[in-house]
Amino acid sequence: MTQVEVWNADETLLHRVSVRHAVKMIWRGVATPVEVHESERLGPYQVPIVVRLVRYVEQKWLYSRTRATYSRDGVLLRDKGQCAYCGRFTATTMDHVTPRSRGGATSWLNAVAACEDCNARKGSRTPDEAGMPLRWDPYVPTRAQLRFARTATATATRLRKEILG
Ligand SMILES: [Zn+2]
Repeated sequence: MTQVEVWNADETLLHRVSVRHAVKMIWRGVATPVEVHESERLGPYQVPIVVRLVRYVEQKWLYSRTRATYSRDGVLLRDKGQCAYCGRFTATTMDHVTPRSRGGATSWLNAVAACEDCNARKGSRTPDEAGMPLRWDPYVPTRAQLRFARTATATATRLRKEILG
């Protein structure tokens, strides 16, 4: 799954989404393609590389009161300890999807849970460069989602202890 850059109307990078998601945005008329793969199509659309929002979006809404404050532990909770690259439930580290050394932000939308192996293998490359596609698009969780994840994770840990001793 290749990731498509989503630019705000002022051409600042907001985040990345899947090709399918980006095409849906174009179809709904909320975004227009800026750069496309000339020869690749998805239905009637050329596969986008970059799309730009038609209307400027205040970034503040992403962090309104119902949204959880970003934290490294929060990322592990949101992803329920599942590695975003290999899918195993052994993630103990947080990976910047676009590495910080390459301008990637420290934010919910640029962070995923990753196991140590995948994190080390990916290094300071993007998922595309590393050939390690993300299994899902990172999102900004609500506080309720994190609370639920915390309870679910605690229950799983307790059960594992009870079963494995
Ligand atoms: Zn992994």
